[in-house]
Amino acid sequence: MVEMHIKGTQVNYYFVCKTKLWLFSHNISMENESDDVKLGKLLHRETFKRDDKEIRVGSIAIDIVKKRDVLEIKEIKKSKKMEKAHVYQTLYYLFYLKKLGIKAKASITFPKQREVINLELSEDDEKELEKVVKEINKIVKGEMPKPSYKKSCRRCAYFEFCFC
Ligand code: SF4
Repeated sequence: MVEMHIKGTQVNYYFVCKTKLWLFSHNISMENESDDVKLGKLLHRETFKRDDKEIRVGSIAIDIVKKRDVLEIKEIKKSKKMEKAHVYQTLYYLFYLKKLGIKAKASITFPKQREVINLELSEDDEKELEKVVKEINKIVKGEMPKPSYKKSCRRCAYFEFCFC
């Protein structure tokens, strides 16, 4: 049985940067200062004004819409640059709900690109997520992974923490 305390953001950061994952997991938060995060929240408000509801289930917070008795998770992302991270974050929500006996499907909307990706959880996704959750636990329990510079660091809220 997989531990259920991992947040969707942690799954996302696992694919983006292990240092970021570690910092976030230790409540070292600079996200409020990031223009990217503010833009993300604004986009979210602008895109789904009418039919979504945010619910919190254990360690996850998701936006859902119920259509013909099927629960649909709706994620909004401003950029496709970290698509793999967004996909796994959303699959993790499906995985989490499935562990609780709740069947759902999901979609990710990229408003700027006017694109929607529809997702359903496969057996392979589940196996991969079991591994990812184990890895996240290992990283969080260990020492902070050394920051390694990449292009996306310039836009990261932790940039000053890592490199100044
Ligand atoms: S600045 Fe770069 S190395 Fe540091 S947390 Fe952000 S992405 Fe990771």
